[in-house]
Amino acid sequence: MPKKGRVFSGARPTGKQHLGNYLGAIRNYVALQDDYDCVYCIVDVHALTTVDTTQDLKQNTVEMALDWLAAGIRPEETILFIQSHVPEVMELHTYLSMVTQMGKLTDLPTFKEKLAQQPENANYGLLGYPVLMTADIVLYKSDIVPVGIDQAPHLEFAREIVRSFNYRYNTKVLIEPQVKHTEVLKVLGIDGKAKMSKSLNNHIELAATPEETTARVREMVTDPARVKRTDPGNPDICNVFSMHKIFSPQDEVDMINVECRRAGIGCVDCKMRFAANLNKHLELFRAERAELASKPDYVTDVLNDGASRARVIAQQTMKEVREAMALP
Ligand code: SF4
Repeated sequence: MPKKGRVFSGARPTGKQHLGNYLGAIRNYVALQDDYDCVYCIVDVHALTTVDTTQDLKQNTVEMALDWLAAGIRPEETILFIQSHVPEVMELHTYLSMVTQMGKLTDLPTFKEKLAQQPENANYGLLGYPVLMTADIVLYKSDIVPVGIDQAPHLEFAREIVRSFNYRYNTKVLIEPQVKHTEVLKVLGIDGKAKMSKSLNNHIELAATPEETTARVREMVTDPARVKRTDPGNPDICNVFSMHKIFSPQDEVDMINVECRRAGIGCVDCKMRFAANLNKHLELFRAERAELASKPDYVTDVLNDGASRARVIAQQTMKEVREAMALP
């Protein structure tokens, strides 16, 4: 069946992935492969805007790629590669920066947030981030970019840059990417308060052992009103119950929904049931990951092959871009 177009998405190399990454992005990446030609990029250059050292960059890239592949990214059809391996993106970024107004970049809320987070490192990369992001997308002639509702303004900005470029050079060479709204689940961490995140250490790693996973689940915060085992609880405000709804069989979810409210089930028992279901759910993923990790150079070969295929598209785009700009 012919595919509906080309999807592009990029993510920073954050190392081993956690449940929040899986539910928020990876499973969507996997599903999109059925309908679209997918280009997935590990954006190591973007990462340089915030990291102090590149020491872990390589390892984090390999670990993340392993998780994606084990979760179902199919490298024989999907292009999976590292951003810096296709240097054409830097050139396009430079050309796009000439049609992007400074005032618009400095006004972006994300730029202001980043500045506030790292006032001691107010580098140019933070300012130019949306321009490089636009270059990432349009270099591969992407039709669609999957984004959550909160990310939509960034895409609109990318579309503006494309329009400015095409207008300036009286061309249609760059494609305005369309937004594909995706439901991005906000997954809370084991603290039950903040979004699951490695930096907050409230995450559950996909590739953890069953024992490690169970230990993390045991730490999960539940309904604070349940101080004693005999106190009735409210599953509607409990993060463990939210997770049950995703990973547990419906009859078990229904049972907990009833029994929690009349203290018929304790939180320890409830959490252990969730841990067992989660471990079962991740069994195949973990076996696949171990198998892929045991093959020497497998991930490197996949990423190199992806970069070669991405570069073919990128070089063609840049040829057209330079022609449109009438560069000498
Ligand atoms: Fe949450 Fe389960 Fe405890 Fe109810 S029994 S508060 S759903 S952990």
